[in-house]
Amino acid sequence: MTEDTIFTKILNKEIPCDEIYSDGLCLAFKDIQPQAPIHILIIPRKKIISLKNAQIEDKELLGHLLLISAKIAQQEGLQDWRTIINTGEKAGQTVFHLHIHVIGGRELAWPPG
Ligand code: AMP
Repeated sequence: MTEDTIFTKILNKEIPCDEIYSDGLCLAFKDIQPQAPIHILIIPRKKIISLKNAQIEDKELLGHLLLISAKIAQQEGLQDWRTIINTGEKAGQTVFHLHIHVIGGRELAWPPG
């Protein structure tokens, strides 16, 4: 059995988070190490390790996560923001439970590092 990630512990309320939004499919909370004035994570309640592990049956869930991320960004007062899904260790993924970063509130350089 694989060990629970920190995000499973947050979903199970074993550790706290600064919650922004919750529904039956997902949870959104503030990133503990914000990279911008607004930095929010949206995670599915279903454990999906990363985007490469998502299956066709996750199609609706993935759409839901994206739409909720946009709703949250706007509720946080953002007009422009970046939506990021780091996929795999070499792309910067450190927590192996799929999550969407919403980052904004400052000028964002492109390309990212
Ligand atoms: P990634 O590097 O794409 O896997 O993103 C993982 C993110 O989770 C990082 O931005 C971390 O700062 C964030 N993070 C790790 N632990 C926590 C926590 N307990 N509460 C909120 N955010 C966290």
